Amino acid sequence: MYDLLIQNGLVYANGGFHKLNVCVKGEKIALLTDCDTRPEARRTIDATGKHVFPGFIDPHAHLRDPGLTHKEDFYTGTCAAANSGITMVCAQPNTQPVPSCYETYMEQVNEGKKKAIVDFNPIASPLGSSEDVRQIAAAGTAWFKIFQKVATYPYNTSAGTLDTHRIYEAFKDCAAVGKRCSVHPFDKYFFDAAVEQCKAEGKPLTLENVRYRWYSDEEMTGAAYQLSYYAQKAGLKWYAMHCWMPGYIDLVRMLKAQGMDIISSFEYMPSIDAPDEIYNVDTGEPIIVGHDARPIKEKIWEGIRDGTIDMIGSDHAPHAINEYNHLDALHTGAGFAMLDFFGHLLVHHMNEGCYSLQRLVEITSINFAKTFDLYPRKGSNLPGSDADFTIIDLDQEWTIDLNHKIYTKTRTNPYVGRKLKGKVTETIVRGRVVMQNGVVDCQPGWGKYIIPGENH
Ligand SMILES: [Zn+2]
Repeated sequence: MYDLLIQNGLVYANGGFHKLNVCVKGEKIALLTDCDTRPEARRTIDATGKHVFPGFIDPHAHLRDPGLTHKEDFYTGTCAAANSGITMVCAQPNTQPVPSCYETYMEQVNEGKKKAIVDFNPIASPLGSSEDVRQIAAAGTAWFKIFQKVATYPYNTSAGTLDTHRIYEAFKDCAAVGKRCSVHPFDKYFFDAAVEQCKAEGKPLTLENVRYRWYSDEEMTGAAYQLSYYAQKAGLKWYAMHCWMPGYIDLVRMLKAQGMDIISSFEYMPSIDAPDEIYNVDTGEPIIVGHDARPIKEKIWEGIRDGTIDMIGSDHAPHAINEYNHLDALHTGAGFAMLDFFGHLLVHHMNEGCYSLQRLVEITSINFAKTFDLYPRKGSNLPGSDADFTIIDLDQEWTIDLNHKIYTKTRTNPYVGRKLKGKVTETIVRGRVVMQNGVVDCQPGWGKYIIPGENH
């Protein structure tokens, strides 16, 4: 007698999709069988015509917990994740307090243990002491992250530094404990110049006027070149994060070809999809955001297809509604909540031809699991692995509207009116169905703190 049977689906196993039954016992996959057999189970999900993926993993979400829980917390954020098929998230470190020593890191882990409904690993800041980095690494952070832009808008965070020497020292600390380190590459001088240029032209400092000038290839790629050099010098396994500007993508492609041990991700927002308007779902009113969607998507998709880019993070970055003010670019909240939609959007882009079905499996789970020593526990549908599944109807066509049930605390919807092909219909975390047909149902605390290397 099994606990769960997923029947007649096209199941990813051994490098391809095959028509199989999946039998789950407790939190693990017990058996894959052909569809003629009829194993007995307490609960059965009919996956006829659907694809059964290894559970999607989001390496980059701002869950705001602890300290900024008026925006989001581990419960609401992971419910939103489950709503679009995400079975594990990596919470980013710009929280209060910043997880830069063992105690603050474990504080975040414990909030997650109490509230999360999908599996998680909080990413730590390496800007404490060398000893702090050692202790947090031993505790189990998947990697470390630094924000290179601080003190001024748009990324007010104590999880960062502008000091390149300090970043280099942190790289050495991470290298010494065998962990990767990622940096959101920024160059403050380009940001400051954009503001000054706007003022000189007599233009108000609205998001619309400033944002296009803030983010540029030379700004981000220049910073990334510098970081890549420090990473090589420090012997660091670099995690090239926010890899979305053309020159940055070319840099990663070149360094990979030279044999440097790099993993890279682009973050969905704002690189691929940055809507002009998000909606307050309670009032139906739009909040004008004026984000920057540049015509460089094809370069990013090419990077995914040719293996330059290994993962996609959502960059779920919720703010309270009253923190948005597009008229004041220097103080408005940057980013928005998107985990309720992220998994569906990734399926849609596959259907659009941006990447293959195989590549979708790799960028949503396999590459993460292999990089962070969690394979085959995560990222495989092999017997003995965690029973994490993202079940997808590739053909379903639907439109996101204001009635779409969302779970993020910020009650916003950035994709009203968006037509999609492909929908995640079930999210299963270690044998438990946490979302079915858009209804998330799970008590806080089901999500487990997942430690790299604990591969069982
Ligand atoms: Zn981010």
